[in-house]
Amino acid sequence: MRSAGDNDIAVIGAGVIGMTTALRLVETGAKVTIYASEFPAETRSARATGVRSPSSRIGLSSNADPEFADRWERWARNSWSSHLQSVGIAGDPVEFLTQYNVSGGVEPKVSASRPFLHLDRRIADLTPDWGDTPQSERPFPTHFTRSGPNLIFYVSEYFDRLVRLFLMRGGRMVRRAFPDRASALSLREPVIVNCMGYGAKAIWGDAELVPVRGQIGWLLPQPEARYALWHDKVQAVSRRDGVIVQYLGSNEDWGFGIADETADRAETERALATLRRLYTEQE
Ligand SMILES: Cc1cc2nc3c(=O)[nH]c(=O)nc-3n(C[C@H](O)[C@H](O)[C@H](O)COP(=O)(O)OP(=O)(O)OC[C@H]3O[C@@H](n4cnc5c(N)ncnc54)[C@H](O)[C@@H]3O)c2cc1C
Repeated sequence: MRSAGDNDIAVIGAGVIGMTTALRLVETGAKVTIYASEFPAETRSARATGVRSPSSRIGLSSNADPEFADRWERWARNSWSSHLQSVGIAGDPVEFLTQYNVSGGVEPKVSASRPFLHLDRRIADLTPDWGDTPQSERPFPTHFTRSGPNLIFYVSEYFDRLVRLFLMRGGRMVRRAFPDRASALSLREPVIVNCMGYGAKAIWGDAELVPVRGQIGWLLPQPEARYALWHDKVQAVSRRDGVIVQYLGSNEDWGFGIADETADRAETERALATLRRLYTEQE
């Protein structure tokens, strides 16, 4: 059995954070092993909507230290540059899609009851301003619409690339579940990087980690309507691999603190009814 050296690093978790971290580490020359109970296609990451939204419910301002916003801005700018390098490469794991934000006929906005951090304005210069969409270009002429480009991630292609590059550079992946903190700390590697997502709450006793429930409905692909839209608390993204529909609630309180992952079909049907109204009004 290989014995661990100073240069050996264990990454626990094979979601998008674990795979990205492991790839960056192996690129520095470290010997990296990923340990995870779920491999990429099985993780929560694989079922994300795939919209670039770096400050979406990242945390409560009451939990952030004074330097957090600066750190977040550096991460967001670095990751933006890095993701742009993936646009246009084989398999198109990342691409720009036009997003339409459609208003009109909706209830007034209700503020969240918690102080969520909002940092998007810090990086507003990275993307073009989302202007009013001229009536002739709106898919929904009955409503006022703002639109602009957004980065979309095809998570399966993106994972495929991360895994391939990681293995090509000598990384190893081991399927292992850690039932408790002691089992994770018994790994041979002198450095362990925690990329366990929500799993970290139980293993490391991280009381600040809060589940934020969300679910997506995944419909057949519609190549003739390739755009994203947001209307009346519903987000829809027409991706190459299917149309993703998600109910987002009135504000950021939606799903906060809810760990129940039972699928709620009625929620998706309500979201589809909202979209149907939008398209019917167009006729
Ligand atoms: C419906 C929905 C839509 C979303 N849409 C978006 C979106 O459009 N844009 C966006 O930016 N974000 C979105 N998100 C959030 C995003 O999916 C997550 O923030 C992200 O996937 C978290 O990645 P992760 O690698 O930290 O965790 P995960 O993907 O959860 O991976 C955790 C890894 O740790 C391993 N692990 C955990 N515990 C243990 C243990 N005890 N032993 C061994 N291994 C363990 C798991 O097996 C897994 O490999 C969405 C989330 C949901 C639920």
